Amino acid sequence: MLIVMDHRATPEEIRRVVDTIEEMGYGAKAMPGRQRTAIGLVGNDGRVEEARLSGLPGVRELIRVSKPYKLVSREWRDEDTVVDLGNGVTVGGDEVVLIAGPCAVESRGQIMGIAEQLRGSGACALRGGAFKPRTSPYSFQGLGLEGLQLLAEARERTGLAVVTEAVDAEGVELVAEYADVIQIGARNMQNYPLLKRAGRSGKPVLLKRGMSAKINEMLLAAEYLLSAGNPNVILCERGVRSFDQQTRNLLDLTAIPVAKSLTHLPIIADPSHGTGVRDKVTPMARAAVAAGADGIIVEVHPDPAKALSDGAQSLYPHQFEELVGQCAPIAGVIGRSLAALP
Ligand code: PEP
Ligand code: MN
Repeated sequence: MLIVMDHRATPEEIRRVVDTIEEMGYGAKAMPGRQRTAIGLVGNDGRVEEARLSGLPGVRELIRVSKPYKLVSREWRDEDTVVDLGNGVTVGGDEVVLIAGPCAVESRGQIMGIAEQLRGSGACALRGGAFKPRTSPYSFQGLGLEGLQLLAEARERTGLAVVTEAVDAEGVELVAEYADVIQIGARNMQNYPLLKRAGRSGKPVLLKRGMSAKINEMLLAAEYLLSAGNPNVILCERGVRSFDQQTRNLLDLTAIPVAKSLTHLPIIADPSHGTGVRDKVTPMARAAVAAGADGIIVEVHPDPAKALSDGAQSLYPHQFEELVGQCAPIAGVIGRSLAALP
């Protein structure tokens, strides 16, 4: 439930509503807005004794939040969430942010070289896994700590923000030391201990949609992050399982406008995992921008044939440059532009 205060409500009146909610045994979150303060009531799974709140001085109206997720819903907060990447670039505002890099950090030469190239082509953030959640235990699992250190060094050199995955709750703190954004992968979207820990990490989180997760389930996973105290969440549509084997996954672009109407959180698209096929990546990146994605995350490798993971879907650096050139005018058509590093 949301308690909307009158625009003339005093700090004492707001305090009294918060205290009353807490006395009733629920949690209260005061959210000052441009016009007025709203106070969220959480932790209720049944009926709330509304009369106790509606009669308090300064209360304008009570709004019941009808969705199972609360903090992520538009009913709760109408204003779009804008996530700061820490390098002067934000996700969720007017600009479309390009995040690019190899699937995995493989070596110093690989990551420094590609980071410089991507920065030159217009990326604002560098992706790359140091801990890789691989379908097979025999596949390359990532460089671990060394990979994180290389990513941090690449950030120093280029100014690109670092997006990298934490694969388990125990690993969140280490990843948070090096990353600007903690990625939670599709395989882990419903790993609740991981979500809770990432929610307490103090770093923005990129939450990827599970491979057969409903949009509702993705929003409930995001609710774990917000309810643990982290408002800086970026959703990511990365394709879902389908019956058709032509592509690795089915990039569900419908999820973008659907999520936009249900949540204030930004949503980006991953056409690399969404298609699994190199020459399908740029067309779907263009489509995702047209559909209203707040950003694109793509895999780019200096030598895809030699990539230790996801080579078949990795763009060559010159293809990323083409992608940027094509996405820019599409963003313009819908009144947006591509973000650039300051
Ligand atoms: C990745 O980003 O390299 C990755 C493993 O993605 P996903 O979790 O979407 O499969
Ligand atoms: Mn990958």
